[in-house]
Amino acid sequence: MRSFLNKDADCVAVAETVARRDRVGFMELYFIVVIQRGRDSTLRILRGGFFPIALGDDENRTGLGELDGGAKTGHTRSDYKKVRFQSRWVWIQVHMVQRKVMATFSVRTPAHQYDCVVARGCVAQLADRIPDKSGNVFVVTTEDVWDLHGRKIEQSLGSRSFHALFFPGGEERKRMVEVEILAEQMVELGADRSSIVVSFGGGIVGDLAGFLAAIFMRGISVIQVPTTLLAQVDAAIGGKTGANLVSGKNLIGAFHQPLAVLIDPDLLTTLTPREYRAGLYEVVKCGIIRSPRLFGIMHNQPHQVLARDPATVEEIVAQSVRIKAEVVTADEKESGLRRILNFGHTLGHALEAETRYAHLLHGEAVAFGMRAATHLGWSLGTCPEPDARAILESIGAYGKIPPLTHIRAENLVARLGSDKKTIQGKVHFVLPKHIGETEIRSGIDGAAILAATGQALAELA
Ligand code: NAD
Repeated sequence: MRSFLNKDADCVAVAETVARRDRVGFMELYFIVVIQRGRDSTLRILRGGFFPIALGDDENRTGLGELDGGAKTGHTRSDYKKVRFQSRWVWIQVHMVQRKVMATFSVRTPAHQYDCVVARGCVAQLADRIPDKSGNVFVVTTEDVWDLHGRKIEQSLGSRSFHALFFPGGEERKRMVEVEILAEQMVELGADRSSIVVSFGGGIVGDLAGFLAAIFMRGISVIQVPTTLLAQVDAAIGGKTGANLVSGKNLIGAFHQPLAVLIDPDLLTTLTPREYRAGLYEVVKCGIIRSPRLFGIMHNQPHQVLARDPATVEEIVAQSVRIKAEVVTADEKESGLRRILNFGHTLGHALEAETRYAHLLHGEAVAFGMRAATHLGWSLGTCPEPDARAILESIGAYGKIPPLTHIRAENLVARLGSDKKTIQGKVHFVLPKHIGETEIRSGIDGAAILAATGQALAELA
C-alpha cells in the first residue's frame, strides 16, 4: 500500500503496523489524501480493513466488513478506480474519487447572488444547478455549437426532458423578432412561469436568451453556459441582456441576473483562432484594468496562451471571471466601478459602428480602442511610458486585427457623441494609470483624442 501511495502522493496516511495479526479483530481505516498534481487536486478516499485471516485465500470475504463506500454526496465526479491489494493477510480496497478544483466566484447584487463556476468539464453540473421546482427546460443555442458540444448538455441532463431551441446566430439576427420567435416556440411547447432557459452559446446567444428569459411571462430563470472566450470572461456574467435595433447595437435590453454561470474552458478548444484571439483581447483588458498578475501572464506567456495550453487557459479565464464578478458585485448597474470594464470600448464602439459591425469582431474593435486609450493616457500623462509600452506590446502579442487603412480618425471621433455610453453629451474615457489601475476622464480635448486615434490607426495600418 505504501508503495502504491508513494507513486502518486507526497503525503500519505500510513496504516498502523499490525504486529500480531491474531490480535486484530477488525479495523477499518480511512485515509484521505489530497494530492497536488499540476493544478488538479485529487481527493482520494481510501477505505480498508485488516482482518485476522488470510483473505488472500478467499478474496470474496467482503462479508467480514463491506468496504465499498460508493460515491458520496459532494463528490464531483465518479472517477472510480478500485484497486485491490491482496497479501497473505491484508485486504484493502481503494476508492479514488477525483475532485477537480473548481474556481467559483460569487456575484452578489442587491437582489441576487449566484455562482460563476470555472472548471474544465463543469457543463456536467448543469442538471444539479436546475432547481427541483423548475418546470420545462429550454436550451437556447445555435446549430454549430450544438453539433460540437450539445452531447455534453444531453449527458448532464440525463433523463430530464428538455427542448433545444435553435437561433440562427449572427449580430444581424440579434433582434427582437428572434426573441419573439423563441418565445412563441416556448409557449407552443408548454412553457410557463416555472420554466427555465439555459443559454448555450457565444455572447450573442447569451444576450438574446438572457433577454428572452428576462421578459418571458415577465421574467423566468436563466442559466448561462457560455461557449466563446468572450462570453466566458465577459458577456455571460453580470446580467446584461439585450438585442439590437436598426439604429444601434444593444439599444433594447434588461438587467437579468442568471441563476448560475457554468464556464467550461474545454469548450474553447473548437473556437476558430480568430474568435479565440478576439476573446484574448478582453482578457488583456481585465489585466490592464485590475490585475497585474493576469496582465503578467498575458504579457509573458503569449505562446502558452495562443497554444491554448489547458492549465493556462483555465487560469486566465478564472482570473478574468474573478475580476468581472468583483466589479459587478460592486456596481451592478454601471454607475461607478463597472465603467472600468469599458476600457477600450469608447473608440472600439465607434470603430464597430463605422465598419457597420461587419469588418471586425467585438474583441478586435476593443483591441483597437485599448490602443487608442493607451496613447491618449500616455499623451495626457495619466499613464507612464513603460506601462503604456507594455500594454501596446501585450495587445500586439495576440496578432493583428483586420486592416483599418480605409478608416479616418476624424470619422471615429465624430461618432463618439452618439455612443450609448455617452451621457448628456459627455464622452467618458477609461484611461490606464498603471498596469492594474485606470481612471475615468471626461471633457478631454478633442485634438488629443484625434491624435491618439490617429496613432492607433497608424500602428495597425
Ligand atoms: P458570437 O456569439 O457570435 O460567437 C462567435 C461565433 O463562434 C459564432 O459563430 C458561434 O456560433 C461560434 N461559437 C460559439 N461557441 C463556439 C465553440 N465553442 N466552438 C466553435 N464555435 C463556437 O460572438 P461572441 O464574441 O461570443 O459575442 C459577441 C456578442 O456579445 C455581441 O453581440 C456583444 O454585444 C455581446 N456582449 C455582451 C456583453 C454583456 O455584458 N452582455 C459583453 C460583451 C459582449
